[in-house]
Amino acid sequence: MEEIRNFTIIAHINHGKSTLADRFLELTKTIDKKEMLPQYLDTLDLEREKEITIKMHPVRMAYILNSNPYILDLIDTPGHVDFSYEVSRSLAAVEGAILLVDATKGIQAQTVYNLEQARKQNLVIIPVINKIDLPHAKIEETSQELSELLKVPQEDIIKVSAKEGTNVEQVLKAIIEKVPQPKIDIESVFQALIFDSKYDSFKGVIVFTRVFSGKIKPDSKIFLVHSGSEGEVKELGYFKPHLEKAEELKSGEIGYIATGIKETEKVRVGDTLGKLDQRKIKALSGYQIPTPVVFASLYPQKPEDFESLKTALLKLQLIDPSLTFEPETREALGRGFRCGFLGNLHIEIIIERLKREFGLELVISTPSVIFKIIDKKGKEHLIFNPADWPQAFQIQETQEPWVRLEILTPINFLGQVLKILEDLGGKYIEKKHLSTERVLLIYEVPLREIIVGFYDKLKNFTQGFASMNYEILGYRKEDLVKLEILIAKQKEEAFSKIISKSKAYDEGQKMVKKLKKILPAQLFSVSLQAAISGRIIARETIRAKRKDVIAPLYGGDYTRKRKLLEKQKKGKAKLKEIGKIRVPHKVFLEMFKS
Ligand code: GDP
Ligand code: MG
Repeated sequence: MEEIRNFTIIAHINHGKSTLADRFLELTKTIDKKEMLPQYLDTLDLEREKEITIKMHPVRMAYILNSNPYILDLIDTPGHVDFSYEVSRSLAAVEGAILLVDATKGIQAQTVYNLEQARKQNLVIIPVINKIDLPHAKIEETSQELSELLKVPQEDIIKVSAKEGTNVEQVLKAIIEKVPQPKIDIESVFQALIFDSKYDSFKGVIVFTRVFSGKIKPDSKIFLVHSGSEGEVKELGYFKPHLEKAEELKSGEIGYIATGIKETEKVRVGDTLGKLDQRKIKALSGYQIPTPVVFASLYPQKPEDFESLKTALLKLQLIDPSLTFEPETREALGRGFRCGFLGNLHIEIIIERLKREFGLELVISTPSVIFKIIDKKGKEHLIFNPADWPQAFQIQETQEPWVRLEILTPINFLGQVLKILEDLGGKYIEKKHLSTERVLLIYEVPLREIIVGFYDKLKNFTQGFASMNYEILGYRKEDLVKLEILIAKQKEEAFSKIISKSKAYDEGQKMVKKLKKILPAQLFSVSLQAAISGRIIARETIRAKRKDVIAPLYGGDYTRKRKLLEKQKKGKAKLKEIGKIRVPHKVFLEMFKS
Protein backbone atom coordinates (compact mmCIF):
# COMPACT_ATOMS: atom_id res chain seq x y z
CA MET A 1 0.00 0.00 0.00
CA GLU A 2 1.21 3.48 -0.80
CA GLU A 3 1.63 5.90 2.01
CA ILE A 4 -0.24 9.19 1.78
CA ARG A 5 0.97 12.75 2.31
CA ASN A 6 -1.62 15.51 2.39
CA PHE A 7 -0.19 19.00 2.11
CA THR A 8 -0.73 22.57 0.97
CA ILE A 9 1.39 25.53 -0.07
CA ILE A 10 1.02 28.79 1.79
CA ALA A 11 2.52 32.06 0.60
CA HIS A 12 1.94 35.72 0.01
CA ILE A 13 0.37 36.49 -3.40
CA ASN A 14 2.80 36.12 -6.30
CA HIS A 15 5.50 34.36 -4.33
CA GLY A 16 5.23 31.42 -6.73
CA LYS A 17 2.74 28.94 -5.32
CA SER A 18 1.14 28.04 -8.63
CA THR A 19 4.48 27.83 -10.40
CA LEU A 20 5.84 25.47 -7.75
CA ALA A 21 2.71 23.34 -8.09
CA ASP A 22 3.38 23.20 -11.86
CA ARG A 23 6.84 21.72 -11.22
CA PHE A 24 5.33 19.12 -8.88
CA LEU A 25 2.88 18.11 -11.60
CA GLU A 26 5.77 17.62 -14.03
CA LEU A 27 8.08 15.80 -11.63
CA THR A 28 5.39 13.36 -10.66
CA LYS A 29 4.31 13.04 -14.32
CA THR A 30 0.74 13.90 -13.36
CA ILE A 31 0.59 16.24 -16.35
CA ASP A 32 2.59 15.63 -19.45
CA LYS A 33 5.21 18.32 -19.95
CA LYS A 34 3.87 18.99 -23.45
CA GLU A 35 0.40 19.80 -22.07
CA MET A 36 1.75 22.03 -19.38
CA LEU A 37 0.48 25.60 -19.39
CA PRO A 38 1.91 27.91 -16.78
CA GLN A 39 -0.09 27.95 -13.55
CA TYR A 40 -1.91 24.83 -14.67
CA LEU A 41 -4.13 24.54 -11.63
CA ASP A 42 -5.47 28.10 -11.86
CA THR A 43 -8.22 27.57 -14.40
CA LEU A 44 -10.05 30.85 -14.29
CA ASP A 45 -8.72 33.28 -16.90
CA LEU A 46 -9.14 36.03 -14.41
CA GLU A 47 -6.87 34.32 -11.91
CA ARG A 48 -4.22 33.89 -14.51
CA GLU A 49 -4.38 37.44 -15.61
CA LYS A 50 -4.40 39.04 -12.19
CA GLU A 51 -1.99 36.48 -10.82
CA ILE A 52 -4.17 35.80 -7.86
CA THR A 53 -5.46 32.52 -6.68
CA ILE A 54 -9.14 32.52 -6.06
CA LYS A 55 -9.36 28.78 -5.89
CA MET A 56 -6.74 26.39 -7.15
CA HIS A 57 -7.72 22.85 -7.89
CA PRO A 58 -6.61 20.04 -5.66
CA VAL A 59 -4.44 17.41 -7.26
CA ARG A 60 -3.36 13.87 -6.42
CA MET A 61 0.11 12.87 -7.53
CA ALA A 62 2.04 9.60 -7.41
CA TYR A 63 5.72 9.59 -6.55
CA ILE A 64 8.35 6.99 -5.81
CA LEU A 65 11.10 7.66 -3.29
CA ASN A 66 13.72 5.01 -2.44
CA SER A 67 11.52 2.45 -4.23
CA ASN A 68 8.58 3.25 -1.98
CA PRO A 69 5.41 4.52 -3.66
CA TYR A 70 3.65 7.55 -2.22
CA ILE A 71 0.44 9.41 -2.88
CA LEU A 72 0.89 13.15 -2.60
CA ASP A 73 -2.31 15.14 -2.28
CA LEU A 74 -1.82 18.83 -2.80
CA ILE A 75 -4.65 21.19 -2.06
CA ASP A 76 -4.35 24.91 -2.37
CA THR A 77 -5.47 27.66 -0.08
CA PRO A 78 -7.06 30.74 -1.63
CA GLY A 79 -4.36 33.39 -1.49
CA HIS A 80 -6.40 36.39 -0.50
CA VAL A 81 -7.63 37.70 2.83
CA ASP A 82 -11.28 37.76 1.78
CA PHE A 83 -11.23 33.98 1.83
CA SER A 84 -9.45 33.50 5.14
CA TYR A 85 -12.13 31.19 6.47
CA GLU A 86 -11.63 28.92 3.46
CA VAL A 87 -7.89 29.04 4.08
CA SER A 88 -8.45 27.71 7.58
CA ARG A 89 -10.66 24.89 6.25
CA SER A 90 -8.07 23.87 3.68
CA LEU A 91 -5.44 23.78 6.38
CA ALA A 92 -7.65 21.55 8.51
CA ALA A 93 -7.68 19.00 5.67
CA VAL A 94 -3.92 18.37 5.58
CA GLU A 95 -0.97 17.46 7.83
CA GLY A 96 1.74 19.66 6.32
CA ALA A 97 2.35 22.99 4.61
CA ILE A 98 5.09 24.36 2.42
CA LEU A 99 5.75 27.92 3.51
CA LEU A 100 6.95 29.61 0.35
CA VAL A 101 8.75 32.96 0.41
CA ASP A 102 9.90 34.98 -2.60
CA ALA A 103 13.58 35.80 -2.11
CA THR A 104 13.22 39.15 -3.85
CA LYS A 105 10.44 40.26 -1.50
CA GLY A 106 11.13 38.49 1.76
CA ILE A 107 8.49 37.63 4.34
CA GLN A 108 5.22 39.54 3.83
CA ALA A 109 2.12 40.15 5.90
CA GLN A 110 0.23 37.23 4.38
CA THR A 111 3.20 34.92 4.94
CA VAL A 112 2.97 35.63 8.65
CA TYR A 113 -0.80 35.37 8.73
CA ASN A 114 -0.85 32.04 6.91
CA LEU A 115 1.89 30.68 9.12
CA GLU A 116 -0.12 31.55 12.22
CA GLN A 117 -3.13 29.74 10.76
CA ALA A 118 -1.05 26.67 9.89
CA ARG A 119 0.37 26.54 13.39
CA LYS A 120 -3.14 26.64 14.85
CA GLN A 121 -3.83 23.41 12.94
CA ASN A 122 -0.55 21.88 14.16
CA LEU A 123 0.78 21.42 10.65
CA VAL A 124 4.36 20.44 9.89
CA ILE A 125 5.91 23.45 8.15
CA ILE A 126 8.42 23.03 5.32
CA PRO A 127 10.17 26.36 4.73
CA VAL A 128 11.09 27.08 1.10
CA ILE A 129 12.67 30.15 -0.46
CA ASN A 130 11.71 30.73 -4.09
CA LYS A 131 13.01 32.68 -7.12
CA ILE A 132 16.68 32.12 -6.37
CA ASP A 133 17.36 32.42 -10.11
CA LEU A 134 16.70 36.16 -10.01
CA PRO A 135 19.82 38.34 -9.76
CA HIS A 136 18.32 40.60 -7.08
CA ALA A 137 17.21 37.66 -4.90
CA LYS A 138 18.19 38.29 -1.27
CA ILE A 139 18.65 34.64 -0.40
CA GLU A 140 20.82 35.04 2.70
CA GLU A 141 18.69 37.75 4.25
CA THR A 142 15.43 35.93 3.62
CA SER A 143 16.86 32.70 4.95
CA GLN A 144 17.96 34.44 8.14
CA GLU A 145 14.56 36.06 8.69
CA LEU A 146 12.72 32.83 8.01
CA SER A 147 14.98 30.90 10.36
CA GLU A 148 14.21 33.42 13.12
CA LEU A 149 10.48 33.44 12.44
CA LEU A 150 10.22 29.65 12.45
CA LYS A 151 12.95 28.97 14.99
CA VAL A 152 14.65 26.46 12.71
CA PRO A 153 18.28 26.24 11.56
CA GLN A 154 19.01 27.84 8.19
CA GLU A 155 20.10 24.48 6.72
CA ASP A 156 16.50 23.29 7.00
CA ILE A 157 15.30 25.91 4.55
CA ILE A 158 15.16 24.68 0.94
CA LYS A 159 16.14 27.21 -1.70
CA VAL A 160 14.43 26.74 -5.07
CA SER A 161 13.61 28.26 -8.39
CA ALA A 162 10.08 27.14 -9.14
CA LYS A 163 10.46 28.64 -12.58
CA GLU A 164 13.56 26.69 -13.54
CA GLY A 165 12.90 23.68 -11.37
CA THR A 166 16.08 23.99 -9.29
CA ASN A 167 15.89 21.95 -6.06
CA VAL A 168 12.16 21.34 -6.43
CA GLU A 169 12.67 17.59 -6.04
CA GLN A 170 14.16 18.26 -2.59
CA VAL A 171 10.84 19.79 -1.58
CA LEU A 172 8.93 16.64 -2.53
CA LYS A 173 11.43 14.59 -0.55
CA ALA A 174 11.04 16.84 2.50
CA ILE A 175 7.28 16.42 2.34
CA ILE A 176 7.60 12.65 2.36
CA GLU A 177 10.18 12.66 5.14
CA LYS A 178 8.76 15.33 7.43
CA VAL A 179 5.00 15.39 6.96
CA PRO A 180 3.39 12.49 8.79
CA GLN A 181 1.19 9.93 7.12
CA PRO A 182 -2.44 10.83 8.01
CA LYS A 183 -4.02 8.88 10.84
CA ILE A 184 -5.92 6.07 9.19
CA ASP A 185 -9.02 4.70 10.85
CA ILE A 186 -11.13 2.73 8.39
CA GLU A 187 -13.14 0.79 10.98
CA SER A 188 -14.87 3.78 12.62
CA VAL A 189 -17.94 5.58 11.28
CA PHE A 190 -17.54 7.65 8.15
CA GLN A 191 -16.72 11.30 8.79
CA ALA A 192 -15.36 13.80 6.27
CA LEU A 193 -14.60 17.52 6.16
CA ILE A 194 -15.83 19.63 3.25
CA PHE A 195 -13.11 22.12 2.36
CA ASP A 196 -14.46 23.32 -0.97
CA SER A 197 -17.28 22.69 -3.43
CA LYS A 198 -18.44 23.34 -6.93
CA TYR A 199 -21.70 23.07 -8.77
CA ASP A 200 -22.45 20.67 -11.57
CA SER A 201 -25.86 20.86 -13.22
CA PHE A 202 -26.05 17.07 -13.64
CA LYS A 203 -24.46 15.73 -10.46
CA GLY A 204 -25.49 18.53 -8.12
CA VAL A 205 -23.07 20.02 -5.65
CA ILE A 206 -19.68 18.32 -5.81
CA VAL A 207 -17.88 18.57 -2.49
CA PHE A 208 -14.11 18.48 -2.13
CA THR A 209 -13.47 16.53 0.98
CA ARG A 210 -10.96 14.99 3.36
CA VAL A 211 -12.06 11.72 4.90
CA PHE A 212 -11.05 11.49 8.55
CA SER A 213 -12.51 8.13 9.42
CA GLY A 214 -14.37 5.24 7.83
CA LYS A 215 -15.01 4.81 4.12
CA ILE A 216 -17.70 5.51 1.59
CA LYS A 217 -18.89 4.05 -1.71
CA PRO A 218 -21.16 5.32 -4.51
CA ASP A 219 -24.94 5.18 -3.85
CA SER A 220 -24.52 5.65 -0.08
CA LYS A 221 -27.08 7.96 1.52
CA ILE A 222 -25.34 10.92 3.09
CA PHE A 223 -26.09 14.01 5.18
CA LEU A 224 -24.41 17.20 6.35
CA VAL A 225 -24.13 17.62 10.10
CA HIS A 226 -24.68 21.39 10.36
CA SER A 227 -27.12 22.13 7.56
CA GLY A 228 -28.97 18.83 7.92
CA SER A 229 -29.20 18.50 4.12
CA GLU A 230 -29.43 14.98 2.74
CA GLY A 231 -28.14 13.51 -0.50
CA GLU A 232 -26.77 10.43 -2.17
CA VAL A 233 -23.30 9.74 -3.50
CA LYS A 234 -23.76 9.95 -7.28
CA GLU A 235 -20.08 9.55 -7.93
CA LEU A 236 -16.79 9.84 -6.06
CA GLY A 237 -13.12 9.86 -6.84
CA TYR A 238 -9.82 11.72 -6.93
CA PHE A 239 -8.37 14.88 -8.46
CA LYS A 240 -5.98 14.00 -11.26
CA PRO A 241 -6.50 17.05 -11.48
CA HIS A 242 -9.61 16.34 -13.59
CA LEU A 243 -12.21 14.38 -11.62
CA GLU A 244 -11.37 10.68 -11.90
CA LYS A 245 -13.97 8.19 -10.71
CA ALA A 246 -13.09 5.65 -8.03
CA GLU A 247 -14.86 2.84 -6.19
CA GLU A 248 -14.30 4.09 -2.69
CA LEU A 249 -12.93 6.98 -0.60
CA LYS A 250 -11.45 6.12 2.75
CA SER A 251 -9.87 7.48 5.90
CA GLY A 252 -6.82 9.66 5.24
CA GLU A 253 -7.75 10.42 1.64
CA ILE A 254 -8.68 13.60 -0.18
CA GLY A 255 -11.21 13.39 -3.00
CA TYR A 256 -14.54 14.53 -4.37
CA ILE A 257 -18.08 13.38 -3.78
CA ALA A 258 -21.00 14.33 -6.06
CA THR A 259 -23.87 14.72 -3.60
CA GLY A 260 -26.87 15.12 -5.88
CA ILE A 261 -27.88 18.12 -3.75
CA LYS A 262 -29.17 20.86 -6.07
CA GLU A 263 -29.26 23.85 -3.75
CA THR A 264 -25.78 25.26 -3.33
CA GLU A 265 -26.67 27.19 -0.19
CA LYS A 266 -27.26 23.87 1.61
CA VAL A 267 -23.64 22.86 1.21
CA ARG A 268 -21.11 25.01 3.00
CA VAL A 269 -17.37 24.75 3.34
CA GLY A 270 -16.47 23.54 6.83
CA ASP A 271 -19.50 21.29 7.24
CA THR A 272 -19.06 17.62 8.14
CA LEU A 273 -20.27 14.87 5.86
CA GLY A 274 -21.66 11.65 7.34
CA LYS A 275 -23.69 8.59 6.35
CA LEU A 276 -27.42 8.78 6.87
CA ASP A 277 -27.52 5.50 8.80
CA GLN A 278 -24.84 6.77 11.19
CA ARG A 279 -26.59 9.94 12.25
CA LYS A 280 -24.87 10.24 15.58
CA ILE A 281 -21.46 11.44 14.36
CA LYS A 282 -19.84 14.52 15.84
CA ALA A 283 -19.19 17.57 13.72
CA LEU A 284 -15.56 18.29 12.92
CA SER A 285 -14.65 21.57 14.55
CA GLY A 286 -14.34 25.04 13.07
CA TYR A 287 -17.60 25.39 11.16
CA GLN A 288 -18.69 28.90 10.35
CA ILE A 289 -21.00 30.53 7.80
CA PRO A 290 -19.10 33.30 6.06
CA THR A 291 -21.24 36.42 6.18
CA PRO A 292 -20.81 39.37 3.86
CA VAL A 293 -19.25 42.39 5.55
CA VAL A 294 -19.08 44.90 2.72
CA PHE A 295 -21.58 45.91 0.12
CA ALA A 296 -21.63 47.81 -3.13
CA SER A 297 -24.46 48.65 -5.50
CA LEU A 298 -24.26 47.50 -9.09
CA TYR A 299 -26.29 49.17 -11.81
CA PRO A 300 -26.33 48.24 -15.49
CA GLN A 301 -25.21 51.12 -17.66
CA LYS A 302 -27.99 50.28 -20.06
CA PRO A 303 -31.27 50.01 -18.10
CA GLU A 304 -32.46 47.20 -20.37
CA ASP A 305 -29.63 45.01 -19.03
CA PHE A 306 -31.30 44.73 -15.62
CA GLU A 307 -32.66 41.22 -16.26
CA SER A 308 -29.33 39.98 -17.65
CA LEU A 309 -27.57 41.32 -14.58
CA LYS A 310 -30.01 39.42 -12.39
CA THR A 311 -29.44 36.18 -14.27
CA ALA A 312 -25.68 36.67 -14.11
CA LEU A 313 -25.73 37.28 -10.34
CA LEU A 314 -27.85 34.17 -9.81
CA LYS A 315 -25.35 32.12 -11.80
CA LEU A 316 -22.39 33.46 -9.86
CA GLN A 317 -24.17 32.82 -6.59
CA LEU A 318 -24.47 29.14 -7.50
CA ILE A 319 -20.71 28.76 -7.45
CA ASP A 320 -20.12 31.32 -4.72
CA PRO A 321 -22.84 31.27 -2.06
CA SER A 322 -21.08 34.00 -0.06
CA LEU A 323 -22.31 36.50 -2.68
CA THR A 324 -25.67 38.02 -1.68
CA PHE A 325 -27.84 40.53 -3.52
CA GLU A 326 -31.17 42.28 -3.48
CA PRO A 327 -32.82 44.60 -5.99
CA GLU A 328 -32.64 48.31 -5.42
CA THR A 329 -33.89 51.35 -7.29
CA ARG A 330 -32.35 54.77 -7.36
CA GLU A 331 -33.93 57.60 -9.17
CA ALA A 332 -30.73 58.65 -10.85
CA LEU A 333 -29.44 55.21 -11.75
CA GLY A 334 -32.53 53.17 -12.39
CA ARG A 335 -32.81 49.57 -11.26
CA GLY A 336 -29.85 47.65 -9.92
CA PHE A 337 -28.71 45.42 -7.07
CA ARG A 338 -27.22 45.97 -3.68
CA CYS A 339 -24.71 43.15 -3.22
CA GLY A 340 -22.97 41.79 -0.15
CA PHE A 341 -19.35 40.61 -0.39
CA LEU A 342 -16.67 39.11 1.84
CA GLY A 343 -14.25 41.94 1.12
CA ASN A 344 -12.82 44.21 -1.53
CA LEU A 345 -11.04 41.65 -3.64
CA HIS A 346 -14.25 39.65 -3.65
CA ILE A 347 -16.04 42.69 -5.14
CA GLU A 348 -13.35 43.10 -7.74
CA ILE A 349 -13.49 39.47 -8.78
CA ILE A 350 -17.28 39.41 -9.10
CA ILE A 351 -17.33 42.64 -11.11
CA GLU A 352 -14.63 41.40 -13.45
CA ARG A 353 -16.56 38.21 -14.02
CA LEU A 354 -19.81 40.09 -14.68
CA LYS A 355 -18.03 42.20 -17.25
CA ARG A 356 -16.03 39.47 -18.83
CA GLU A 357 -18.20 36.39 -18.71
CA PHE A 358 -21.54 38.14 -19.11
CA GLY A 359 -20.52 41.19 -21.13
CA LEU A 360 -22.23 43.61 -18.74
CA GLU A 361 -21.28 47.24 -18.41
CA LEU A 362 -21.82 48.40 -14.87
CA VAL A 363 -21.90 51.43 -12.61
CA ILE A 364 -20.57 50.53 -9.19
CA SER A 365 -20.97 52.47 -5.96
CA THR A 366 -18.12 52.92 -3.51
CA PRO A 367 -18.06 49.87 -1.25
CA SER A 368 -19.27 50.31 2.28
CA VAL A 369 -19.47 48.03 5.30
CA ILE A 370 -22.66 46.38 6.51
CA PHE A 371 -23.79 47.98 9.77
CA LYS A 372 -25.79 46.48 12.60
CA ILE A 373 -28.47 48.18 14.64
CA ILE A 374 -30.03 47.01 17.86
CA ASP A 375 -33.44 48.58 18.17
CA LYS A 376 -35.20 49.61 21.36
CA LYS A 377 -36.75 46.13 21.61
CA GLY A 378 -33.30 44.55 21.50
CA LYS A 379 -33.74 43.21 17.97
CA GLU A 380 -30.78 43.16 15.56
CA HIS A 381 -30.97 44.57 12.02
CA LEU A 382 -28.28 44.45 9.35
CA ILE A 383 -28.18 47.68 7.38
CA PHE A 384 -27.07 47.39 3.77
CA ASN A 385 -28.58 50.65 2.71
CA PRO A 386 -28.47 54.04 4.46
CA ALA A 387 -32.08 54.47 3.32
CA ASP A 388 -33.01 51.74 5.81
CA TRP A 389 -31.39 53.52 8.74
CA PRO A 390 -34.08 54.02 11.39
CA GLN A 391 -34.92 57.26 13.16
CA ALA A 392 -32.63 58.09 16.07
CA PHE A 393 -35.34 57.41 18.68
CA GLN A 394 -35.72 53.81 17.51
CA ILE A 395 -32.03 53.00 17.94
CA GLN A 396 -30.60 51.50 21.10
CA GLU A 397 -27.13 50.67 19.82
CA THR A 398 -25.16 50.86 16.58
CA GLN A 399 -22.37 48.46 15.58
CA GLU A 400 -19.91 47.92 12.77
CA PRO A 401 -17.40 45.21 11.79
CA TRP A 402 -13.87 45.39 13.17
CA VAL A 403 -10.75 43.67 11.90
CA ARG A 404 -7.41 42.58 13.19
CA LEU A 405 -4.98 44.37 10.91
CA GLU A 406 -1.41 43.17 10.47
CA ILE A 407 1.09 45.39 8.71
CA LEU A 408 4.63 44.38 7.93
CA THR A 409 6.92 47.30 7.21
CA PRO A 410 10.62 48.05 6.89
CA ILE A 411 11.71 49.89 10.02
CA ASN A 412 12.64 53.07 8.14
CA PHE A 413 8.97 53.61 7.24
CA LEU A 414 7.69 52.85 10.72
CA GLY A 415 7.00 56.52 11.50
CA GLN A 416 4.81 57.02 8.42
CA VAL A 417 2.95 53.79 8.98
CA LEU A 418 2.22 54.63 12.61
CA LYS A 419 0.88 57.97 11.49
CA ILE A 420 -1.63 56.54 9.04
CA LEU A 421 -2.62 53.91 11.60
CA GLU A 422 -3.30 56.65 14.13
CA ASP A 423 -5.89 58.19 11.80
CA LEU A 424 -7.91 54.98 11.77
CA GLY A 425 -9.15 55.37 15.32
CA GLY A 426 -8.19 51.80 16.12
CA LYS A 427 -6.45 50.04 18.97
CA TYR A 428 -2.77 49.15 19.16
CA ILE A 429 -2.26 45.49 20.03
CA GLU A 430 1.32 44.45 19.47
CA LYS A 431 4.61 45.14 17.72
CA LYS A 432 6.97 42.30 16.75
CA HIS A 433 10.45 42.66 15.29
CA LEU A 434 10.94 40.09 12.53
CA SER A 435 14.54 41.15 12.12
CA THR A 436 16.60 44.26 12.73
CA GLU A 437 15.06 45.73 9.60
CA ARG A 438 11.42 44.77 9.63
CA VAL A 439 8.54 45.15 12.04
CA LEU A 440 5.11 43.57 12.23
CA LEU A 441 2.42 45.86 13.64
CA ILE A 442 -0.85 44.49 14.90
CA TYR A 443 -3.89 46.72 15.37
CA GLU A 444 -7.61 46.36 15.72
CA VAL A 445 -9.51 48.84 13.55
CA PRO A 446 -12.98 49.39 12.09
CA LEU A 447 -13.20 47.70 8.69
CA ARG A 448 -14.87 50.86 7.37
CA GLU A 449 -11.58 52.69 7.67
CA ILE A 450 -9.61 50.34 5.46
CA ILE A 451 -11.93 49.23 2.69
CA VAL A 452 -11.50 52.23 0.46
CA GLY A 453 -8.07 53.55 -0.41
CA PHE A 454 -6.17 52.38 2.66
CA TYR A 455 -4.06 49.81 0.87
CA ASP A 456 -2.99 52.32 -1.78
CA LYS A 457 -2.16 54.85 0.91
CA LEU A 458 -0.03 52.34 2.76
CA LYS A 459 1.82 51.46 -0.43
CA ASN A 460 2.35 55.12 -1.30
CA PHE A 461 3.68 56.03 2.12
CA THR A 462 6.15 53.15 2.13
CA GLN A 463 7.18 53.17 -1.54
CA GLY A 464 5.44 49.84 -1.91
CA PHE A 465 7.45 48.08 0.78
CA ALA A 466 4.79 47.52 3.43
CA SER A 467 2.26 44.72 3.12
CA MET A 468 -0.95 44.14 4.99
CA ASN A 469 -3.43 41.48 5.91
CA TYR A 470 -6.61 41.55 7.95
CA GLU A 471 -9.05 39.21 9.56
CA ILE A 472 -12.64 40.00 10.51
CA LEU A 473 -13.12 40.04 14.28
CA GLY A 474 -16.86 40.64 14.37
CA TYR A 475 -19.23 43.50 15.21
CA ARG A 476 -18.39 46.11 17.83
CA LYS A 477 -20.27 49.00 19.31
CA GLU A 478 -19.61 52.36 17.70
CA ASP A 479 -21.47 55.65 17.79
CA LEU A 480 -22.77 55.83 14.23
CA VAL A 481 -25.04 58.37 12.57
CA LYS A 482 -26.66 58.84 9.18
CA LEU A 483 -25.28 61.82 7.34
CA GLU A 484 -27.76 63.27 4.85
CA ILE A 485 -27.27 65.69 2.00
CA LEU A 486 -29.92 68.23 1.07
CA ILE A 487 -29.88 69.96 -2.27
CA ALA A 488 -32.15 73.01 -2.43
CA LYS A 489 -33.64 71.78 0.87
CA GLN A 490 -34.53 68.40 -0.63
CA LYS A 491 -32.93 65.26 0.71
CA GLU A 492 -30.95 63.35 -1.92
CA GLU A 493 -31.00 59.84 -0.45
CA ALA A 494 -28.37 58.47 -2.83
CA PHE A 495 -25.78 60.62 -1.08
CA SER A 496 -26.67 59.47 2.45
CA LYS A 497 -23.90 57.81 4.37
CA ILE A 498 -23.47 55.98 7.65
CA ILE A 499 -20.51 57.33 9.51
CA SER A 500 -18.90 57.53 12.91
CA LYS A 501 -20.38 60.46 14.83
CA SER A 502 -16.96 61.90 15.56
CA LYS A 503 -16.17 62.16 11.84
CA ALA A 504 -19.59 63.29 10.62
CA TYR A 505 -18.84 67.00 10.82
CA ASP A 506 -15.69 66.86 8.69
CA GLU A 507 -17.24 64.50 6.20
CA GLY A 508 -20.34 66.70 5.88
CA GLN A 509 -18.14 69.71 5.10
CA LYS A 510 -16.18 67.72 2.58
CA MET A 511 -19.25 66.44 0.79
CA VAL A 512 -20.99 69.79 0.36
CA LYS A 513 -17.72 71.37 -0.82
CA LYS A 514 -17.27 68.66 -3.37
CA LEU A 515 -20.87 68.92 -4.54
CA LYS A 516 -20.44 72.66 -4.94
CA LYS A 517 -17.58 72.00 -7.32
CA ILE A 518 -19.26 69.40 -9.47
CA LEU A 519 -22.96 70.24 -9.49
CA PRO A 520 -23.71 72.52 -12.46
CA ALA A 521 -25.00 75.97 -11.54
CA GLN A 522 -28.70 76.69 -12.05
CA LEU A 523 -30.52 79.87 -12.95
CA PHE A 524 -31.13 80.45 -9.26
CA SER A 525 -28.88 79.91 -6.26
CA VAL A 526 -28.93 76.44 -4.75
CA SER A 527 -28.27 75.59 -1.12
CA LEU A 528 -26.24 72.49 -0.28
CA GLN A 529 -26.54 71.18 3.27
CA ALA A 530 -25.29 68.26 5.29
CA ALA A 531 -27.49 67.13 8.17
CA ILE A 532 -27.69 64.60 10.97
CA SER A 533 -31.18 63.77 12.25
CA GLY A 534 -32.47 66.98 10.69
CA ARG A 535 -29.78 69.20 12.24
CA ILE A 536 -27.70 71.07 9.67
CA ILE A 537 -23.96 70.63 10.25
CA ALA A 538 -22.49 72.10 7.07
CA ARG A 539 -23.69 74.33 4.25
CA GLU A 540 -22.57 75.79 0.95
CA THR A 541 -24.34 77.74 -1.77
CA ILE A 542 -23.99 77.45 -5.50
CA ARG A 543 -24.47 80.96 -6.89
CA ALA A 544 -26.96 81.41 -9.67
CA LYS A 545 -25.78 81.16 -13.18
CA ARG A 546 -26.70 84.55 -14.63
CA LYS A 547 -27.96 84.27 -18.11
CA ASP A 548 -27.03 87.50 -19.81
CA VAL A 549 -30.51 88.64 -20.73
CA ILE A 550 -29.47 92.19 -21.55
CA ALA A 551 -26.49 91.43 -23.70
CA PRO A 552 -28.42 91.66 -26.99
CA LEU A 553 -29.35 95.25 -26.16
CA TYR A 554 -26.89 97.93 -27.15
CA GLY A 555 -26.82 101.36 -25.73
CA GLY A 556 -29.00 103.01 -23.28
CA ASP A 557 -32.55 101.67 -23.22
CA TYR A 558 -32.46 101.59 -19.40
CA THR A 559 -36.11 100.82 -18.73
CA ARG A 560 -36.05 97.95 -21.15
CA LYS A 561 -32.97 96.54 -19.37
CA ARG A 562 -34.52 96.93 -15.98
CA LYS A 563 -37.68 95.25 -17.11
CA LEU A 564 -35.75 92.30 -18.41
CA LEU A 565 -33.74 91.97 -15.20
CA GLU A 566 -36.92 92.18 -13.15
CA LYS A 567 -38.44 89.48 -15.26
CA GLN A 568 -35.38 87.30 -14.77
CA LYS A 569 -35.53 87.78 -11.01
CA LYS A 570 -39.16 86.75 -10.90
CA GLY A 571 -38.47 83.74 -13.02
CA LYS A 572 -35.73 82.67 -10.64
CA ALA A 573 -37.98 83.01 -7.65
CA LYS A 574 -40.50 80.87 -9.42
CA LEU A 575 -37.87 78.25 -10.26
CA LYS A 576 -36.82 78.18 -6.66
CA GLU A 577 -40.36 77.41 -5.65
CA ILE A 578 -40.47 74.58 -8.09
CA GLY A 579 -37.42 73.52 -6.16
CA LYS A 580 -36.12 70.10 -6.98
CA ILE A 581 -32.98 69.98 -9.00
CA ARG A 582 -32.25 67.18 -11.33
CA VAL A 583 -28.85 65.86 -10.33
CA PRO A 584 -27.03 64.66 -13.44
CA HIS A 585 -25.93 61.05 -13.58
CA LYS A 586 -22.31 62.10 -13.86
CA VAL A 587 -22.47 63.97 -10.52
CA PHE A 588 -23.67 60.81 -8.78
CA LEU A 589 -20.80 58.85 -10.21
CA GLU A 590 -18.32 61.51 -9.17
CA MET A 591 -19.67 61.56 -5.61
CA PHE A 592 -19.60 57.76 -5.34
CA LYS A 593 -15.96 57.72 -6.30
CA SER A 594 -15.31 59.42 -2.96
P1 GDP B 1 1.25 32.63 -6.73
O1 GDP B 1 0.41 33.88 -6.67
O2 GDP B 1 1.91 32.39 -5.42
O3 GDP B 1 0.49 31.45 -7.22
O4 GDP B 1 2.44 32.93 -7.76
P2 GDP B 1 2.65 32.42 -9.24
O5 GDP B 1 3.09 31.00 -9.27
O6 GDP B 1 1.46 32.79 -10.04
O7 GDP B 1 3.92 33.30 -9.63
C1 GDP B 1 3.91 34.70 -9.62
C2 GDP B 1 4.92 35.22 -10.63
O8 GDP B 1 6.26 34.88 -10.24
C3 GDP B 1 4.73 34.62 -12.01
O9 GDP B 1 4.97 35.63 -12.95
C4 GDP B 1 5.78 33.53 -12.09
O10 GDP B 1 6.22 33.29 -13.40
C5 GDP B 1 6.90 34.13 -11.26
N1 GDP B 1 7.75 33.10 -10.63
C6 GDP B 1 7.34 32.07 -9.85
N2 GDP B 1 8.40 31.34 -9.43
C7 GDP B 1 9.51 31.92 -9.96
C8 GDP B 1 10.91 31.63 -9.90
O11 GDP B 1 11.38 30.69 -9.27
N3 GDP B 1 11.74 32.48 -10.57
C9 GDP B 1 11.29 33.54 -11.27
N4 GDP B 1 12.17 34.30 -11.89
N5 GDP B 1 9.98 33.84 -11.35
C10 GDP B 1 9.10 33.04 -10.71
MG1 MG C 1 -1.34 31.34 -8.01
